[in-house]
Amino acid sequence: MTPLYEKNKLTVYNSLTGNKEEFVPINSPFVGMYVCGPTVYSDVHLGNCRTFISFDMMFRYLEHLGYNVRYVRNITDAGHLENDADEGEDKIAKKARIEQLEPMEIVQQYTVGFRKVMSLFNAHAPSIEPTATGHIIEQIEMVKDILEKGLAYEVNGSVYFDVEKYNKSAHYGILSGRNIEELISGTRELDGQSEKRSPLDFALWKKASPSHIMRWPSPWGVGFPGWHLECSVMSTKYLGEQFDIHGGGMDLKFPHHECEIAQNHATHGAHSVKYWLHGNMLTLNGKRMSKSTGNTILPEELFSGDNTILEKGFHPSVVRFFMMQAHYRSVLDFSNDALVAAEKGYIRLTEAMKKMQSLQVSKTTEGLDVASWVDTLYGVMNDDFNTPMAIAQMFEAAKFINGISDGKLKITASDLEILSSTMNAFFFDVLALQLPQEGNADKLDAAVQVLIDLRMGARADKNWALSDEIRDKLADGGIMLKDGKDGTTYSVE
Ligand code: AMP
Ligand code: ZN
Repeated sequence: MTPLYEKNKLTVYNSLTGNKEEFVPINSPFVGMYVCGPTVYSDVHLGNCRTFISFDMMFRYLEHLGYNVRYVRNITDAGHLENDADEGEDKIAKKARIEQLEPMEIVQQYTVGFRKVMSLFNAHAPSIEPTATGHIIEQIEMVKDILEKGLAYEVNGSVYFDVEKYNKSAHYGILSGRNIEELISGTRELDGQSEKRSPLDFALWKKASPSHIMRWPSPWGVGFPGWHLECSVMSTKYLGEQFDIHGGGMDLKFPHHECEIAQNHATHGAHSVKYWLHGNMLTLNGKRMSKSTGNTILPEELFSGDNTILEKGFHPSVVRFFMMQAHYRSVLDFSNDALVAAEKGYIRLTEAMKKMQSLQVSKTTEGLDVASWVDTLYGVMNDDFNTPMAIAQMFEAAKFINGISDGKLKITASDLEILSSTMNAFFFDVLALQLPQEGNADKLDAAVQVLIDLRMGARADKNWALSDEIRDKLADGGIMLKDGKDGTTYSVE
């Protein structure tokens, strides 16, 4: 069978060129896709989830088209300092110090939590999920290479990338559309304390202070890698010096992705990434959802409804549908009303999906040209993954299905086969939605487990009020928690 990608000309918006371009993989049918993963020092918030859900949808659509995708999404478990200017404490080490845990306990706890949330959202696991701490040797090798090429310098046990020197033969700022003069004028003067030659330079390797707990030996002394380095190393290690897609949230364009480009260019002498794709932000009260400002909502709060702005809990599929109703490059504002509206639409669509299974067929089709509907649906998806337009087409089909069910419209057996296989593919495989009653036992288990974990966390913090509230609200919904010596179990009344 001819693969779908042969007749579907997918175009993607490439942030590097600012154009929509035809997607032509370097080595079709293989596609390499790298997405910057979470820094595992706290629970992922819904904003983080939006980015990962957007790329999950792309991963799924590329696979649906017949590509063989290797999807690499890293776990940042070292080297991400509190601010981007290479100062401050390592975020993970800081949390470990505050909670009196091993940094790797922090990493484990939040990595497990992240995977759990992504699976509740029905996101596929990536093909490879490499960690920064698992690739220290490769990172040291890359630093050595950049030093040998003369594009970095060592000062007092730290190594910095020499941005101005690099910019003589390449363009630092190519992705974010800036030039070095603007960047220099926009930065503060070095305060005399800094080891960097220029404020634009960024750390490839940092010397560890005596109190720094995450530390490794290197040719420059004991230290730890700079944050940008891991993505350069792990993307090229698993996808090759040149690969197809690099993604992440828009907030990572500068400096993170700009620095990645510089590091790769310095090492390999060319650009590594063919298509840079960036997802837009989820906002709350009009402001970017962000851990540092506390303007967040956690997925667990959304599923349980346990948050002041929510009138009730929402199923993960409703939340996913809400996200898919916006284009991944548009800002999406989160609110209770928006979720309620999304839920209505989702129910309308799921009801049509159910009706579709038992439609009567006729000798003719009346009410929708199914073949051209299929072309339109793929056409909008091929236009830079336009999921809101795809959903609009699915609503067209839902109207048609309702018309047939009411005896006002007609469909032939062969058209019904095309309609249902296409609807099923988009609903279940590409948008990764679920029917409300489908696989409920598993889903309920997973969702209640999230709440049990949350309650355990509250108890560990001696937050009895929250712990009791979780137990009582679950009981109100007919889910009874029982604490035993082997942990907490539940039963449904
Ligand atoms: P971090 O753990 O901070 O490195 O973030 C993980 C991912 O979440 C990155 O790709 C960020 O771009 C993305 N992200 C952070 N905040 C938001 C937001 N409000 N909306 C969408 N994506 C976000
Ligand atoms: Zn990254």
